[in-house]
Amino acid sequence: MALDIGRRALEREVRAAHVDGRPVPTVAIVGGGLSGLATAIQLARSGVRSFTVLEQSDGVGGTWRDNVYPGAACDVPSHLYSFSFAPKTDWSRRFAEQPEILSYAEQCVQRFHLEPHLRLRTTVQRAEFDEESGAWRLTLAADDGAVETIRADTVVFACGQLNRPFIPDLAGLDTFTGPSWHSARWDHDSDVTGKQVAVIGSGASAIQFVPPVARQCDSLTIFQRSPNYVGPKKDRAYSPSTRRLLNRVRIVEVAYRWWIYWTLEARWLWFRKDSWAGRKLQEMFTKGIQAEVVSERLPEASVVPDYPVGCKRILISNDWYPTLMRTDVTVVDTPVDHIEPDAVVTADGDRHPADVLIFGTGFVTTEFLAHIPITGQGGQTLAEEWRDGARAYLGTAVPGFPNCYFLYGPNTNLGHNSILFMVERQVNLILQALAVQARTSGGTGAPVVGVTTEAYEREDRRTQDLVSRTAWVANCRSWYKNTSGRVTNNWPTWTVRYWRDTLRLRPADLGLIDSSTEAPPAGRPGA
Ligand code: NAP
Repeated sequence: MALDIGRRALEREVRAAHVDGRPVPTVAIVGGGLSGLATAIQLARSGVRSFTVLEQSDGVGGTWRDNVYPGAACDVPSHLYSFSFAPKTDWSRRFAEQPEILSYAEQCVQRFHLEPHLRLRTTVQRAEFDEESGAWRLTLAADDGAVETIRADTVVFACGQLNRPFIPDLAGLDTFTGPSWHSARWDHDSDVTGKQVAVIGSGASAIQFVPPVARQCDSLTIFQRSPNYVGPKKDRAYSPSTRRLLNRVRIVEVAYRWWIYWTLEARWLWFRKDSWAGRKLQEMFTKGIQAEVVSERLPEASVVPDYPVGCKRILISNDWYPTLMRTDVTVVDTPVDHIEPDAVVTADGDRHPADVLIFGTGFVTTEFLAHIPITGQGGQTLAEEWRDGARAYLGTAVPGFPNCYFLYGPNTNLGHNSILFMVERQVNLILQALAVQARTSGGTGAPVVGVTTEAYEREDRRTQDLVSRTAWVANCRSWYKNTSGRVTNNWPTWTVRYWRDTLRLRPADLGLIDSSTEAPPAGRPGA
């Protein structure tokens, strides 16, 4: 949060560069979601003007632009789900809904004058490091099909972990005659009133859109592969006086933000493997569900998970269980076998008639940037480097890919605190690396900053060792793990530790390298 070390370091270098007439590195930011905007804002605040945000859609906001399903809201309190350097102090409620969060992203663009830096409807098709110039070549495709190549000294991939909807390859899906869509591509033109709706999946998105859809449609069937732990959502609209106080007295808002942060941070105790706190929470959940939810219609297997709490994301909702208890809502735990033109057929041969089919089946999460060919030093590709699972130094840098950073990269997702905290920390690290680049620009050859193989391997070993001590490695299926069971997505310990690790750039890990050399050998970059 506070301690703007990276920004101050970069600001200093940018000022000095202006005095000396040296060039300031150009930066291409791929993605106009919240992490892309965080980078853009911090660059602008540091005095860097030479950056461009490349965004494939026609607006900013990323996941909050894509996920417009009914009931979409954040499950992290909004005063912490906003940037410490661009606070919004007048949130309308504790857990803001999608329109208010999207509007916050748009307000950030205005407040920091980012419009001239946005290139919307522009898809990055590939990125290649040019060893001769020490710069990146990005191939861009515009909406109208025009293809162009641009150069940037530095590239920051801010593409998110949850941006490519996953739809299972179900036999007969193409024969379904009714409307069908994924939660992140909501079809607002289709009306579910009076319809028989089938929903596949029961994760974080489904628990938000199922209750409003169930209230509107005739009947709803949820095809569930495994139940989740769902706790109460302590949500409320702020009273006018609370809003005024938070809006006008900065110290109160800051204190509130810190209070939320530490309350959430303490929850890490639930996520440690076999922890006492986790067991107690699980007992509490289980007893509550058994007492209030389990019935003849909703057997224990449908609502009580058979894996430890924390193995998958812990969900919060006040209307999920009441919705499951509705007589016009059915939970089916038998796997889906195939789809027919007007029905979902399960493995036991039962036909479940459906007019509308909605997928709440999540995203392609463990492949990260596999959809963009990225080539680094010596012709190595990121896809090849990540063939056994994505990894990065502090989730941010990979050896052989200099002047290139990943935001919300491998092992930076959280189950217990605000992801924007992690993104801010990553941006701090990147700004410090950019300061090194700016300091040395203007000499012979372009300054090239990269991570050592040694630091990359060391941090990965540490991360995976910590992962082995978390609830995520238990017997559940989750979007955090790749097909070989490696947890590629989550940060496996306190976020305070990440804060410390990203506070100051360690030049022996991430620093200047000689751009004229091939891919760095293990140990030292470019040595
Ligand atoms: P998800 O949590 O991955 O849930 C996907 C659901 O689809 C699960 O119930 C899964 O079952 C099921 N599924 C997947 N493949 C299936 C198949 N082949 N057949 C049957 N069922 C299948 O995805 P999500 O709900 O979109 O949420 C993803 C993440 O987005 C969340 O964890 C969270 O980080 C984020 N999110 C955040 C918020 C927020 O409030 N901040 C809201 C929504 C989403 P299994 O569980 O058995 O795998």
